[in-house]
Amino acid sequence: MLGKQQGARLANLWEDGKAAGMTEPERLLYRSNLLGSDKRITNYGGGNTSAKVMEKDPLTGEMVEVLWVKGSGGDVGTIKMDGFATLYMDKLRALEGIYRGVEFEDEMVGYLPHCTFNLNPRAASIDTPLHAYVPKVHVDHMHPDAIIAIAASKNSKELTSKIFGTEIGWLPWKRPGYELGLWLERFCRENPEARGVVLESHGLFTWGDTAKQAYETTIEIINRAIAWFETENTGPAFGGPAKPALAGGERVAIARKLMPVIRGLISGAESKVGHFDDSEAVLDFVTSTNLEPLAALGTSCPDHFLRTKIRPLIVDFDPAQPDLEKTLAGLPEAIATYRADYAAYYDRCKRADSPAIRDPNAVVYLLPGVGMITFAKDKATARISAEFYVNAINVMRGASGVSTYVGLPEQEAFDIEYWLLEEAKLQRMPKPKSLAGRIALVTGGAGGIGKATANRLMQEGACVVLADIDETALEAAQNELSNRYGKDFVRSVNMNVTDEAAVASGFGDALLAFGGLDILVSNAGLATSAAVEDTTLALWNKNMDILATGYFLVSREAFRIFRNQKTGGNVVFVASKNGLAASPGASAYCTAKAAEIHLARCLALEGASAQIRVNVVNPDAVLRGSKIWTGEWKEQRAAAYNMDVDELEAHYRERSMLKLSVFPEDIAEAIYFLASDMSAKSTGNIVNVDAGNAQSFTR
Ligand SMILES: [Zn+2]
Repeated sequence: MLGKQQGARLANLWEDGKAAGMTEPERLLYRSNLLGSDKRITNYGGGNTSAKVMEKDPLTGEMVEVLWVKGSGGDVGTIKMDGFATLYMDKLRALEGIYRGVEFEDEMVGYLPHCTFNLNPRAASIDTPLHAYVPKVHVDHMHPDAIIAIAASKNSKELTSKIFGTEIGWLPWKRPGYELGLWLERFCRENPEARGVVLESHGLFTWGDTAKQAYETTIEIINRAIAWFETENTGPAFGGPAKPALAGGERVAIARKLMPVIRGLISGAESKVGHFDDSEAVLDFVTSTNLEPLAALGTSCPDHFLRTKIRPLIVDFDPAQPDLEKTLAGLPEAIATYRADYAAYYDRCKRADSPAIRDPNAVVYLLPGVGMITFAKDKATARISAEFYVNAINVMRGASGVSTYVGLPEQEAFDIEYWLLEEAKLQRMPKPKSLAGRIALVTGGAGGIGKATANRLMQEGACVVLADIDETALEAAQNELSNRYGKDFVRSVNMNVTDEAAVASGFGDALLAFGGLDILVSNAGLATSAAVEDTTLALWNKNMDILATGYFLVSREAFRIFRNQKTGGNVVFVASKNGLAASPGASAYCTAKAAEIHLARCLALEGASAQIRVNVVNPDAVLRGSKIWTGEWKEQRAAAYNMDVDELEAHYRERSMLKLSVFPEDIAEAIYFLASDMSAKSTGNIVNVDAGNAQSFTR
């Protein structure tokens, strides 16, 4: 926030003690991580850092000058040593001799691999010449909100000299590439005293003789910009508030309703994952007088609009007179209009060799009085897109408060969005996994089969909400899975499947976390054992409550979401061999499991016309990792078969036709099959995963 509300300056985090024992490349890494640790200095993945270091050439043994620079696709905040590209400076300088001029600048990217030092496999980024040709040892290129606010102001050149005098220069907008590297070189030759330069509509370059000096210059320059905005930008942000912000609970309730509907309307061949943000910066913007004109100008810094599209979609919602039904009814047309506008922008700006038009849907959805929803191919991308739009909001707040905010010219924006080098980067991306963009909720998600299922679905790229009543196990399972697949992919909700309100709120949390639902794995269970004459009504009801009613309640909630989302749906029940085959001393359990299986058939019938598939996996005797198989039930089963509990696993194995034990991973594999497009034409089925049991052959 670049105005009076935000007083905090950037802290100087450099510690001499830490840096003293480091090699020069290590100090570059240290400086990069310090800079990237604060999003006000640069956005995720944005900016880069470099150092020119003397190193021994592995071929000649002589000392040569090597450029260490952040490689392609990295993030300075999280970069490690292997994230830097290394290139011979003399070869980079030699490239100036074969440069054919600005219209051929893209071909220079192809020469960068020829300059690689020491066979470093990290690809050099498009920004490499920007660092190579600045004749300074340590160079930082950052995207600070406070500097971009200056760079995106109509009179950015005047503002730069007003704030920084001759210490910081200014260069007009130029797409990053070889030519801009030469511009920077010329600037430094002509202005030997300058400590850095503002790039119009883009960001900041700063430099120093040592790593510490470069770091401190970067911090100092950004702090001066922040301080300047504090004194100059004192009016109300964005023309002042025009609409009220709804209370937190109402905002969340509206987001939960809108997200699956938007998701349904924009998920074509590719499923999307959502993110909701109602932070103060966002609320200030979406309640403001100038929301519409500012949003229409689009974002400025190239990084910002590559992630957020040229402009957001403002959803028609009036927080002063909320009418959600009207908003929902208007969404299809609003989204169709956005797509048509995007196609028109593509047609206006395309060149003869432009890549084909990409997904025309908006990434950012602004809800007046409520917040911002973003949708992208996965959760991390959706979250980062939201972060970038917050950066853009900060920039607009600063620029429009002291001058007139200007977005990047449309053709320049297009040329970056559809840059052939950018397209090549997209083409190099690995093929998406089979469940990429899919969202699953797994009940009993902290237990043996549930956790194995979540793991299997996440392995295929799905986002998973673990639902369970065991708080401790839930936390452990979420930690384990987020360590393995990343925190963006997994959430957990405490859910008692027999409690109607808890089920509704748990699914609501899932919608808020990921924006929709594609897969329900109903797996929460229990098992009891008693002769019929000893089965209490309470025991009977408990089985029915969890295994029949609980499965009904979660399915009903999923069906409601699927129907709103209109993208089909997928339900997998984890039932039991005992739903088909009678077992001694377990009438309550077996009957409830039979009800569950029949419920699945009824739902398969009802859901088919909406492309909702419902299938069943029937495990048998999955002892390992199961909470059901701890304690009483295990003892009761052992007693029923007149054996020791330790003999049970072997007993079940020997009883099976294939003489194999059944593990949670085996059940998870069948669930994955039924939850994936591999089984796209199957519904109402039962897959037995029981190592063979003639009694439960389906008929
Ligand atoms: Zn940049």
